[in-house]
Amino acid sequence: MSGQSSATANEADNLIKATIDQLLEDAINRGASAVHFEPRTHLTIVRFRHDGLLTDAAKLPRQHHEALVTHLKQRATTVNHAGSSFSHPTADQPVLIHFTSLQLMDGEKVVLHLVPHLKRPLDLPSLGFWGPGQRALEHALSEPHGVIVSASLDRQVTSKTLAALGALVQSVQRSVLNIEPDSAQTIDGINHMQMTGRQITTDHLLAALRQDSDVIIMGNLIDHDAGELAFEAGMTNRLLLGSMYAASGEHVLRRLLDMHLAPHLVAAGLKAVTGQRRVKKLCAHCRTPYKPSPTVVKRAAKNCGLAPEAFVSRVNQLEGEAIAFGLGSDIADASSSPTGLNRLWKASKVGCQACHFSGYQGQIFLAEVIALTPPIQRAVIMNRPIADLRQTAQADSVSIDLDHVIKALRGLTELEQISKRS
Ligand SMILES: [Zn+2]
Repeated sequence: MSGQSSATANEADNLIKATIDQLLEDAINRGASAVHFEPRTHLTIVRFRHDGLLTDAAKLPRQHHEALVTHLKQRATTVNHAGSSFSHPTADQPVLIHFTSLQLMDGEKVVLHLVPHLKRPLDLPSLGFWGPGQRALEHALSEPHGVIVSASLDRQVTSKTLAALGALVQSVQRSVLNIEPDSAQTIDGINHMQMTGRQITTDHLLAALRQDSDVIIMGNLIDHDAGELAFEAGMTNRLLLGSMYAASGEHVLRRLLDMHLAPHLVAAGLKAVTGQRRVKKLCAHCRTPYKPSPTVVKRAAKNCGLAPEAFVSRVNQLEGEAIAFGLGSDIADASSSPTGLNRLWKASKVGCQACHFSGYQGQIFLAEVIALTPPIQRAVIMNRPIADLRQTAQADSVSIDLDHVIKALRGLTELEQISKRS
């Protein structure tokens, strides 16, 4: 009798293991960045985060929840090689999985963060950079030393961008060390420091500096100490790639000054700041064109800090560049003219088969690059308020808002869209 019940227990165990394997396989194949196991009264809900959005992936019977959590914990501690993480080999790419859990009223909730190991990182265009911004960023990367800060309200986005920048400068002559805790991906050719905590300390950075690295990816510049170390290191023949939880590039400039870093140190050491925001991508099969009203155009011009006439001519010139670059290449003609904005796009209310009747297909990035040109350097040295920093940056570069207009004209996204998690 006892033999029979242990056989049944074994079967249940094997079934749970197989379920976990299948869910991880699905999550990795779908490019999910996290898997949530949420206990409810009668069910365990499994959800995947993909492109910033959570979707239900499976509903499991609640009675197996504790066993499921135990199995996940066992994997995290036995196959472990960096804190509470484990690897899951798949057909084309290994993935490192960070385990976290939290005790809730209904049971223990587990979140697995999936960190893919890439042979090649994302390229700059798939992170939203193109044309003038891409050129400014590549120029900043070609500098032998200095600091580049990537800003977004989504840590996954800045982490991917830093990894992409690191991989771009990685070469036979330059050694790149990543000391970012919880990096969103690992990449061939970039050294990753084994991190013991969630926060970068001065010890981590000093250890990285002793390693004779040419480029250091250090993640979040959280306070004065981290900022000062980054800038001091950036003044001594090293390129520091940092990130900040901020909505745009000018917020980074202001924040660095508010951290009481010396303005002249920021102006001299900083080479470029990037800002990124995710928005939903329109389904190319069912998006609908419309002519924007004068009010919409006026409001867009105001957002971009430009007078309506200057706005229209700048947008038309940039759309020309975007077409040459291949943005929205499935739309043959321009949506703007030297005298006006003729066409914008919105999601179809009913959708189509290609977009599962939602009107959208994944997400894209809006991006900006603020290079430290002489006018921006002067504004930083003079410790100007955020409104002045924004105005100077808008005159000198393509802001996120202007990038939004260009990508909306090219049919990639809507102008009126509140992005999720950004
Ligand atoms: Zn569609």
